[in-house]
Amino acid sequence: MTELHKLSIKEKLKGLKDSTFSSQELTESYLKRIKKLDNKINSFITVLEERAVKSAKESDQRYISGSALPLDGIPIAHKDIFCTEGVLTSCGSRMLSNFISPYSSTVVKNFEGSGSVVLGKTNMDEFAMGSSNETSYFGEVKNPWKKDYVPGGSSGGSAACVSAGLASGATGTDTGGSIRQPAALCGLTGIKPTYGRVSRYGMIAFASSLDQGGVLTKSAEDAAYMLKTMSGHDPKDSTSLNVEVPDFVKEIDKEIKGLRVGLPKQFFSMNMPEYVEQSINESLKVFEKLGVKIIDVDLPHIDLSLPIYYVIAPAECSANLSRYDGVKFGYRCEDPKNLEDLYMRTREEGFGTEVKRRILIGTYALSAGYYDAYYLKAQKCRRLVANDFKEAFKSVDLILSPTAPDTSFALGAKTSDPVEMYKQDIFTIPANLAGLPGISVPCGQHQGLPLGLQLVSDNLEESKILRMAHHFQLNTDWHKSWPELD
Ligand code: GLN
Repeated sequence: MTELHKLSIKEKLKGLKDSTFSSQELTESYLKRIKKLDNKINSFITVLEERAVKSAKESDQRYISGSALPLDGIPIAHKDIFCTEGVLTSCGSRMLSNFISPYSSTVVKNFEGSGSVVLGKTNMDEFAMGSSNETSYFGEVKNPWKKDYVPGGSSGGSAACVSAGLASGATGTDTGGSIRQPAALCGLTGIKPTYGRVSRYGMIAFASSLDQGGVLTKSAEDAAYMLKTMSGHDPKDSTSLNVEVPDFVKEIDKEIKGLRVGLPKQFFSMNMPEYVEQSINESLKVFEKLGVKIIDVDLPHIDLSLPIYYVIAPAECSANLSRYDGVKFGYRCEDPKNLEDLYMRTREEGFGTEVKRRILIGTYALSAGYYDAYYLKAQKCRRLVANDFKEAFKSVDLILSPTAPDTSFALGAKTSDPVEMYKQDIFTIPANLAGLPGISVPCGQHQGLPLGLQLVSDNLEESKILRMAHHFQLNTDWHKSWPELD
């Protein structure tokens, strides 16, 4: 039989419907691969073997009785930031290393309601802070393309597992690039939808005004299937958008001829490696052949994005992470002498270095006397960046750039220099600041490592970016290659 993990979601659904294979067979083939290969990349924190086989059998029953659900029997994985009832939900941290969630996030529930099979929970940077998946309490994740290289982060486990063919697709979250950057570094398609499109209920908070759930898959078509399932209004999330969710799968075939793509001058005047530039230029030729117009655009405040983010994200994280105090849930230090000692040692022992760094920066930026100078100023500048996009979308439909400044880098190469690490998200952070949807699509390789291009559109235009990505993939093969892991 064909290698089942290489089939697209559409092909898997057809195979299940036609009884070419059952969901149990499909699920067991993935579980077998995880057992054989995940020790090389460490992409899972928890594998839910029994639970997965049980839900696969239920899916098979629904196919037999003619009541199959939209993603019935498709094995996927969830980033370990999505609360899952009865299952360890660690957020990559010692602080939650004993936290069995008493409830499921809306995203997990939406996938359950679509019949998909959850293989397990994926590794990630601690509390989603990082760009290399080296800050996880559960150990670093390795890039399946080169095992001494990083997979990107913070959704590095999700990226590595899909890239290695250990799940059909995986959920991720993106606060400043954590879906798109690991997708680029692992040769995948990764979409962060519009802020508010996907419910944040039960998605452990890092920086609430920036966090957004999305997916990492092999192709834009697979992403359309998954995004359709996870999107939609949720009264349990006050920032959830009460708008109709388009049928991303149906809309993906629509023509892209006549669409206008903008190249931000500020990005393209930066120094980038010659192979990154070349991969972008070749991709532009593909789009031009498909009738897309390429135009230069000006985003005058875009250079401020990284500093703005590194005030706002730590500020929000310092507030969000104050709930981990050793009292209510999660890790608690041993033998506390008094309440203060309990707080201090729990937080000292439960959090890793990067998380502590951000809590300190954030607390400083929010403190009396500095609030106006840093936090308020950053919020004002954030508005300027959002306005730049608004202005640009008057003359273009999409904005294109590389996703990351380079290919993946060696494990340990940037751990001692946080600012170097932060620069990974230079192209992705602006979309989070403005709440816009963005996608990363594989567009080349250099020395055996994947490269990605990013497309950002105006609010709620995920269909447009998925369409663009799909047509690009109908005319290129980058998304079809697999790392050699077996
Ligand atoms: N790499 C960025 C950070 O460390 C973005 C993380 C994210 O998107 N969750 O904050």
